[in-house]
Amino acid sequence: MPRDPDCIFCKIVSVELSAAVVYENESIVAFLDVNPLAEGHILVIPREHYSGVVDMPSAVCGAFLSSLPVLGRALVEVTGAEGFNVLLNNGRVAGQVVPHVHCHIVPRKQGDGLGYRWNAGTYAEGRDAELASALQKVLSRQR
Ligand code: AMP
Ligand code: ZN
Repeated sequence: MPRDPDCIFCKIVSVELSAAVVYENESIVAFLDVNPLAEGHILVIPREHYSGVVDMPSAVCGAFLSSLPVLGRALVEVTGAEGFNVLLNNGRVAGQVVPHVHCHIVPRKQGDGLGYRWNAGTYAEGRDAELASALQKVLSRQR
């Protein structure tokens, strides 16, 4: 199983480092984020060490993400959240600090003041088709 002896999340998996674990199975461990954006903020990690999503085999990624429904349901029941954000910071530029793939589940309530800039734009004429075509070309070569 891929592991990095210096990785804090690998140390949580191996129980060298304690965490407030809320759920675990053969593929993932879920625990409370030590610096929560809201009460009940959960981190989900695959047991195997991969720095980024693109490094993961699809099956590992599938098992990792398949825990979201059960965790989300529990979170809503326990915290009374009206919804939640699922956030995966992939890469330093995207805000990833811990280089072991992880997903944040952040409970949300009306008026909680959380949020982030979502500066949506538009495409210049033809640019969307150009991008879609470039992506289709690359993806057609993938398994
Ligand atoms: P990210 O910026 O997506 O890499 O998020 C890393 C998250 O890990 C941050 O929200 C930290 O608060 C959290 N974190 C770091 N160390 C621990 C730890 N030992 N136990 C629980 N959460 C942690
Ligand atoms: Zn790790």
